Amino acid sequence: MSDLRDLYQEVILDHNRNPRNFGVLDHPTHQAQGVNPLCGDQLQVFLRLNDGVIEEVRFEGRGCAISTASASIMTEILKGLSVDQADHCFEVFHAMATGAATPGAADLDLAKLEVLSGVREFPARVKCATLAWHALNSALHHAGGKVTTE
Ligand code: ZN
Repeated sequence: MSDLRDLYQEVILDHNRNPRNFGVLDHPTHQAQGVNPLCGDQLQVFLRLNDGVIEEVRFEGRGCAISTASASIMTEILKGLSVDQADHCFEVFHAMATGAATPGAADLDLAKLEVLSGVREFPARVKCATLAWHALNSALHHAGGKVTTE
């Protein structure tokens, strides 16, 4: 990977053009806002948990292609997972995006996340790719509110 254009694979462009699970969720049990001032990305993540399982997850906001695609892919992965599994996804994705050693992916299907692993070559884009996940983490464990990458 030597060129920024290589980062914008078709999967990412597709999720950006047509984000999945986009829009406000009615009656969320958890929510948080994520802001990345360096890029101008702003998004809100909404979750509805039932008995420790993520029953519904949606997001809305405005951002670059990477932040939007990452949030869209995240919502596809999270639905039906327990909070522990979601935490594990966050760890795996964070390690993947920052180029740290990737912890074992256990039994989760995280192949979808790999399209975003190219961001590790572009430190400024790592914050775009991880923004939705930081918002998720805040929503699940820190009573929501606003998280910022700076
Ligand atoms: Zn961005």
